[in-house]
Amino acid sequence: MKTLVMKFGGAAVAGPEHFSSIADIIIDRLKHYKQVAVVVSAMGDTTNQLIELAKKVHPDPPRREYDMLLTVGERISISLLAMALALKNQEAFSYTGSQTGIITTNRHTEARIIDVRPHRIMPHLQSGKVVIVAGFQGVSKDNEITTLGRGGSDTTAVALGAALGAVKIEFFKDVSGIFEEDPKKNPGASLFSEMTYDLALDITQKGAKILHPRCIVLAKKNGLPLHVRSFHDKNIDPIEGTWIREKAVPRGGNPLFEEE
Ligand code: ASP
Ligand code: MG
Repeated sequence: MKTLVMKFGGAAVAGPEHFSSIADIIIDRLKHYKQVAVVVSAMGDTTNQLIELAKKVHPDPPRREYDMLLTVGERISISLLAMALALKNQEAFSYTGSQTGIITTNRHTEARIIDVRPHRIMPHLQSGKVVIVAGFQGVSKDNEITTLGRGGSDTTAVALGAALGAVKIEFFKDVSGIFEEDPKKNPGASLFSEMTYDLALDITQKGAKILHPRCIVLAKKNGLPLHVRSFHDKNIDPIEGTWIREKAVPRGGNPLFEEE
């Protein structure tokens, strides 16, 4: 019973017109995987706009309230994506991080995922329905809404993939994968077809905004393959894109999450 986790970033959901084509990609994946869970980021620049909004009210907002506000961005995307799937007669349900059982440390704005308890979404996945999870957020041990730090939706996707025993995480971007140089600056830059976790971590830590570095650490810990590709390309198993994985056999056993 193969499980896939798909992750769509802010660029993939930049405008309302994007949801229909993403829904098509998801419906296609259901033909090849038994269970499909989808993690989405806030639309385009929404998170920045929410931060600006907060600053108009308070120059240094209380961290708890900042998290409460910022988690709204991803809630907009998950509900719109579920609507786009419904329009195509595909049953889908959206869930916040808290509803999904993404358990984090108490540290507002920089929380770490220390457990995932996906009890609530399991029945839907098992019956072939699409589960859409809000990235970048969770619930603390004190039952407060937390966020994971900017770009944190990638880490949500990998933590969820570990908890569900997914075969891979597919990241949908506005570029075709990971390039040796920024393809937006140098259109001739060559694409990596495969790389190790350590190389991916190295280039993200040097500032390449490909993936949230914490998601690579988590993927390595769990031996979870990551596949970075473009949302413009709908083929199921393309040669395109970049795989981040290692030849070693996936570890199996209990999923591992972040350190406190
Ligand atoms: N929306 C959040 C941010 O912009 C999280 C994410 O995109 O991964 O930082
Ligand atoms: Mg974002």
